[in-house]
Amino acid sequence: MTLSPKEERRRARRRGIYVRGPYVRVAPPASCKDPSELFWEKVDKNGPKVPGVLGCCWTWTGGRDKDGYGKFQVSVPGEDKQRHIRAHRFAWEEVNGPVPADFYLLHRCDNPACVRPGHLRPGTQKQNREDCVRRGREPRGSKKPNAIFTEELIRSVRDRVASGAVLADIARELKVNYLSLHNAVTKNWRHV
Ligand SMILES: [Zn+2]
Repeated sequence: MTLSPKEERRRARRRGIYVRGPYVRVAPPASCKDPSELFWEKVDKNGPKVPGVLGCCWTWTGGRDKDGYGKFQVSVPGEDKQRHIRAHRFAWEEVNGPVPADFYLLHRCDNPACVRPGHLRPGTQKQNREDCVRRGREPRGSKKPNAIFTEELIRSVRDRVASGAVLADIARELKVNYLSLHNAVTKNWRHV
């Protein structure tokens, strides 16, 4: 007899096993708490407020991985050992069900420790990369392979302009193109 997924979940829940999405979490015997409750207990809903993103972040207060993402331990059906999944993924799936295959969950707030479902959206790897570029995680300044300026140089040029020097003169002196220097000082090197 094959059970419908819904019926399987209902029976699992009756045995004290929590099922949602592709994951199962076994509640520790010492606790009668709902595993979902265990998860949300580790969430601080008064996290930082990120401009342009609705509401403040919900910060995961449990363990994190090397990239700053929250970790949550789950049991997966058919696997003996428990394993860690990313906390924001668990949170999103609590509300929305499983993340579609080949999709990533992207943070609108760019805060890896945030698990607020409303701050997450599924996206492709390509969108993930585009997000990184937009937020400036790509190499900048002299870390760019073809950089012709250095951070020190840009800083000193800015200082000289601030004390009255003319940018065109500095460009001539450094034997660099005026426009590239202008762009570097005013636009491209804002991180310096
Ligand atoms: Zn957030």
